Amino acid sequence: MYGGKPVGRGSLTERAPYRAPDQLRTRRARGARNAVEKLELLAAEIHLGPAHGVIIHHYPPGRCPAPRPRYARPVPTLPIVQIGHPTLRARAREVTAAELATPELHRICADLVETMRAASGAGLAAPQVDIPLRIFAVEVGDNPRYPYKPRLGLRVLVNPIVHPVSEETYASYEGCLSIPDLRGLLPRHTEVEVTYLDPDGYEHVERFGGLSAGTMQHELDHLDGVLFPDRVEDPSTLCTWEMFRAYRQDAWVESIQPLLERFPGEAGPG
Ligand code: ZN
Repeated sequence: MYGGKPVGRGSLTERAPYRAPDQLRTRRARGARNAVEKLELLAAEIHLGPAHGVIIHHYPPGRCPAPRPRYARPVPTLPIVQIGHPTLRARAREVTAAELATPELHRICADLVETMRAASGAGLAAPQVDIPLRIFAVEVGDNPRYPYKPRLGLRVLVNPIVHPVSEETYASYEGCLSIPDLRGLLPRHTEVEVTYLDPDGYEHVERFGGLSAGTMQHELDHLDGVLFPDRVEDPSTLCTWEMFRAYRQDAWVESIQPLLERFPGEAGPG
């Protein structure tokens, strides 16, 4: 359901025409007067035809690297807006009952997931791709950006509500795809209960702990126009990714070992 559209087979000797459909799509949709119109514009463009070009790699005879798919998997991604963009500071609106289970909503959710994966994010909220709806996606596998993060299966949460289970908090070192090269330390509730709809409108109630709970709270903040630096209590903890890895990561990961043992994450596939 979240895979890209199948693409036609081409010839090895020709390069299929490539256009950046998602950027076109968002540029047009950016002219929308409101979120509903944006949904309609996005939906209209989805039916324009093949959404994604095919990139074919050329190698001299005998120089082809290890067997690999001849046709690159299409990666439909949306531009991630950056701190300073007004959508990041506004409260996103609820998805309406009429919008649930529609192809338009599924398309937005699929684009959100693909964009999150392409950026190696642990989560991505719709406002981060300039869609002001209460939707976010989360997924943590073997993520090079967050090697210490417990595994969290893919979920797309629509109209989520996050309740802390207790007053207990932990110190969470966070970054954000909308705030380039910055990390900071802030408190997050250790355990939360999350009530949400999936894109088909079915309700789910789940409990998350540790870093997964932190991810839920970080993404929920995006739906309310809050960014992680707003919650950083000690500005001296702000650092770049390079400085985080060089001077802070080991000590911080050590400090949260009990938390990682208590909330080890979900079992991986296989
Ligand atoms: Zn973020």
